[in-house]
Amino acid sequence: MLKLQNVHTYYGAIQALNDVSVEVNKGEIVTLIGANGAGKTTLLMTVCGSPRARSGTVSFEGEDITQAQTHTIMRRGIAISPEGRRVFPDLTVAENLKMGGFFLGSREIEEGLAHVYTLFPRLKERANQRAGTMSGGEQQMLAIGRALMTKPKLLLLDEPTLGLAPLIITQIFDIIRTIREQGVTVFLVEQNANKALQVADRGYVLETGKVVLADTGANLLVNDQVRQAYLGA
Ligand code: ATP
Repeated sequence: MLKLQNVHTYYGAIQALNDVSVEVNKGEIVTLIGANGAGKTTLLMTVCGSPRARSGTVSFEGEDITQAQTHTIMRRGIAISPEGRRVFPDLTVAENLKMGGFFLGSREIEEGLAHVYTLFPRLKERANQRAGTMSGGEQQMLAIGRALMTKPKLLLLDEPTLGLAPLIITQIFDIIRTIREQGVTVFLVEQNANKALQVADRGYVLETGKVVLADTGANLLVNDQVRQAYLGA
């Protein structure tokens, strides 16, 4: 479904991704783990076309999207819940969700809202609350809900559990499973390698912009290198 082939991404002279090849198949949950600054966010953003890969290709459902505009990429069926959630604090929950569907017609927005409220009843209860007054976990649910407004085929999740309490983290991973069961393919960037590898079919380990390991989630969980570097073994 999503394929990055020999992707190199730079910020000016700084190379953030170095010859990265990654694949996400339809129906999978794939995780990308790595230390701070390894390039995980850059990889997701390269899929969204900002920054763009300087060389290599990004393709989605067989079509080359390397040079496509971000809004075109979103319309093709990719959505992102960004690192740090980035909800609009002064807008209400409902308004934030509508922003996620800004290019949809009014009927599709209503359908999107109904869909998101079914998945997150809490967001329905809080529809008129300003997003900035919600808890961290609620804001994370809102960020995921906003991404789901366009009914994407592929959901990119950047560190959805960062800074959240253990109970909320468990809820977020349950939600990720539910989203996949509803037919959405998930590409998940996580610092919480243990939980991410438990939920993921496959995983990649990124170190200083390079993929150093690729295997099933189950195999990576027992891999010595992963255990020492990311699971605190
Ligand atoms: P974290 O877990 O800390 O978010 P990450 O694995 O997501 O890290 P990136 O944010 O992708 O890593 O950063 C990869 C490298 O690119 C880092 O060296 C970072 O300093 C650099 N970088 C990221 N964004 C920019 C930018 N806008 N301008 C310049 N360098 C950047």
